[in-house]
Amino acid sequence: MCTNSSMTKKLYIETVGCQMNVLDSELVVASLRKEGYELTDCTADADTILFNTCSVRQHAEDKIYSALGRLKHAKQTHPDKVIGVLGCMAQKDQRLVFERAPYVDLVVGPGQIHQVPRLVKEARAGAGQQLEVSLGRKEGSRDAIQRSHASFDPLRDPAMRPTPYQAYVRIMIGCDKFCTYCIVPNVRGPEQSRPPSEILAEAHQLASEGCKEIILLGQTVNSYRYRHGDRTTRLSDLLYELQEVDGIERIRFITNYPKDMTDDLLAAVRDLPKSSRYLHVPVQSGSDRVLERMKRGYTVDEYRAMLGRVRDWIPGVAVTSDFIVGFCGETDEDFAQTCKLVRQLRFKNSYIFKYSERPGTKGAERFPDDVPDAVKKARNNQLLAIQNAISEEDNQPFLGRQVEVLVEGPSKAALKREKQTGPPPVGPGKPAGPLQLTGRTRCDRIVVFEGNRRQIGQLLPVTIYDANALTLFGTVVTQHAGPELFALSSGNRPMNRL
Ligand code: SF4
Repeated sequence: MCTNSSMTKKLYIETVGCQMNVLDSELVVASLRKEGYELTDCTADADTILFNTCSVRQHAEDKIYSALGRLKHAKQTHPDKVIGVLGCMAQKDQRLVFERAPYVDLVVGPGQIHQVPRLVKEARAGAGQQLEVSLGRKEGSRDAIQRSHASFDPLRDPAMRPTPYQAYVRIMIGCDKFCTYCIVPNVRGPEQSRPPSEILAEAHQLASEGCKEIILLGQTVNSYRYRHGDRTTRLSDLLYELQEVDGIERIRFITNYPKDMTDDLLAAVRDLPKSSRYLHVPVQSGSDRVLERMKRGYTVDEYRAMLGRVRDWIPGVAVTSDFIVGFCGETDEDFAQTCKLVRQLRFKNSYIFKYSERPGTKGAERFPDDVPDAVKKARNNQLLAIQNAISEEDNQPFLGRQVEVLVEGPSKAALKREKQTGPPPVGPGKPAGPLQLTGRTRCDRIVVFEGNRRQIGQLLPVTIYDANALTLFGTVVTQHAGPELFALSSGNRPMNRL
């Protein structure tokens, strides 16, 4: 049971959707901590309840409206609680959120999240419902629309990251590709790249806080271009600059747009020691007819040629993809072509989604959502089974090999155990017992192994002894570490290792 015994203001925040939302929530939490808030995982305890929402699929929206429905009674009995809806669904639905849940106090689009502390304060002071959203794609000049979305990242909160050793860094926002199924260009606005100097400053800051890996974010991250005077910084240039940041050991970037996979970028990934040998490049379908309806801008052969270049440039690279099954008009033959493509291209893994019609997109306007849900589900399962078999086969060559793992923290199983039995005792005199840990290789493969809490955040050599479709299992290679010599005159600073 939750009890709010302290006088500190409590914040409950729930995040759905992509990495952009995870990062946005980190920023909201950091800004509210400055106002004296502490996090709680209990809505009954909270003074402010925020939902950071996604509108890429109907299911994600339905979940939020149900969660809001469950808060109706709490708001009636505690009218001083502030309830807010942030993110993509807030931008898309705007006043509709107030109509469907009249007790909501704030609706804030992703381009306006820097305003959340002020809006919470105003709502709490009785100023009534607060709506802050960015301009729609037809509601002004490109410049005005861009400005209304620009909300780059002034504050970070390490406690909100997936692990303290990994952090997302937004390098661009928005999207101009307008794939017909996708709501992102409407809710996240035009494509805008962030100045390299700001990205570098943020990377240095993160490194000084102990972060080891940064994950660069953009809807089409490889479209990154920042023009200053007559110079243009591309993603490859940025990778070279980030390579020099001391303390940062690994750099990943997601999500890539197939048509913007240039040779300079592939060369950077191949040549830079800190760059992960992992690329997420969604193809979405194996049928040209479907790709054209999706307005993806490439054919299957063009994608295949791009992937060939990727694999030629970067030996050992791991490539993952997204697929949408059951897009409008997708026939059995179209789907068979997708299955064939997955068998041919052998992705490390694929994220498979059933098509969900999004009002406001060209897809919803132009094409009926005519593939029955049962067919979408069956295709989803079939494609997943094909991909899983490939992933399992492709993980077998790792058996007996040594890989370098960045240790992220306790495995899911260990976390579950801790939830049931409580965390193990730590502190002076308490042995740090064995713990199942998880981490990733440079090619983004998940590795689970037995270790101890002190190893979290380290890069460790691990030998693999088993593998399934999603996970490699290994043992840490124990290295002999010799005693350190200390110079009498320099306090505790270590000299040369023996
Ligand atoms: S590239 Fe297409 S799918 Fe990706 S965010 Fe842009 S519009 Fe959406």
